[in-house]
Amino acid sequence: MKVMKFGGTSVGKPERMFQVRDLISRDNEPTIVVLSALSGTTNALVAIGDAMSSGNKTKAEELIDHLHAHYKTFLAELLKSDRIRSKALGIIQEHFDFLRIILRISFNDALNKDILAQGELMSTKMFSCYLEELGQSHVLLPALDFMSIDANDEPQVADIRLKLNKLLEQHKGVQTFITQGYICRNAKGEVDNLKRGGSDYSASLIAAAINASVCEIWTDIDGMHNNDPRVVAVTRPVEHLSFDEAAELAYFGAKILHPASIWPAQQFKIPVKLLNTMQPEAKGTVILEHADSDGVKAVAAKDGIVMVKIKSSRMLLAYGFLRKIFEVFEKYRTPIDMITTSEVAVSVTIDSITHLDAISKELAPLGELEIISNQTIIAVVGNRLTHEGGLLQKLFTSLADLQVNMVSYGGSLHNISILVPTEHKNAALKSLNKGIFGLD
Ligand code: ASP
Ligand code: MG
Repeated sequence: MKVMKFGGTSVGKPERMFQVRDLISRDNEPTIVVLSALSGTTNALVAIGDAMSSGNKTKAEELIDHLHAHYKTFLAELLKSDRIRSKALGIIQEHFDFLRIILRISFNDALNKDILAQGELMSTKMFSCYLEELGQSHVLLPALDFMSIDANDEPQVADIRLKLNKLLEQHKGVQTFITQGYICRNAKGEVDNLKRGGSDYSASLIAAAINASVCEIWTDIDGMHNNDPRVVAVTRPVEHLSFDEAAELAYFGAKILHPASIWPAQQFKIPVKLLNTMQPEAKGTVILEHADSDGVKAVAAKDGIVMVKIKSSRMLLAYGFLRKIFEVFEKYRTPIDMITTSEVAVSVTIDSITHLDAISKELAPLGELEIISNQTIIAVVGNRLTHEGGLLQKLFTSLADLQVNMVSYGGSLHNISILVPTEHKNAALKSLNKGIFGLD
């Protein structure tokens, strides 16, 4: 059995849904199809929730009406038969009635999660109606019946496995299952979600739960690229990555895959393929346990980084100094991405400034603090990088004319991280494209 996940743009137009149907019918392997909401929908639902939470009911109502109209037009193009179309319109009507009811009751965070769940609920039901119209047998599996997170928002892998396999047993012989990405139940049993972009995570958790032969992530580009195509002129897809390499790239800015979606597949050794709905024959990227070769595979950039520098002569020959610093970040649940040290100073980077004021206050007694914002981490990702002779020379030559604030080398065999001011990011990515990959 395999998993095929289609993102928002892959279901965002009726003709894309036609294509999805072709793609899921190409072979005879039983498949669980995981769908995102139609593109733009989750953003619209976020805006509806925001309007409600700020008490702007008129704005919320306008947004609901606008989204509803979009769905009606979509269905008119998606479905030919009057019977199925009016069935689908009725289903969609129920979801919009629900949104309008929420408008009238007092708003809270749990209701907001209900609002956000409507996108995936609608896209899967619409796709199911389309398959019904074509007479293609399938079963709609409600994600809310098996996908769950605990009180720390972590997926309950064992539980998901148990529940999903039980559900599948009730449908022996079925070739096609459809389910929602992104949505789940939380520890209180309420509707919740796996955070923005979380449909990839759903797909990977489902693939792990059923020991799928492969987890295919279908998007609108042909796999991970060696550099950011929005910044450099020429990029090429990376055909093969290990899970470790893919995890670094996903975390450090390759938008194609949700970073959390790596670990379930990695733990259960499920191959992941990144494929392009618009170009199904393109090879895309295959992610497997082991790397196929050494050396740099790609560079990626992560913006919005803040550098925190702590300098203290008391650090000289002292032990326990680093622990005190890390405890402050731990207390405020703020992850550190990079760290570099000298004998009297430590620099770390964080990507969340939510608790920066409180962190600064607690760090102040430890030494002189410097906070430098608007930084970007450039991650150079590949396999056995510290074994590659001449790599550092290439990196430093490429970056010779730019300001570099931190370099983290040797923490992993898969990543060399370089911190530059964000204003130098594009220049850095461009010269690395030439210096490392020989591309413009
Ligand atoms: N629809 C959700 C979002 O836009 C989940 C996803 O597409 O992965 O964030
Ligand atoms: Mg997505």
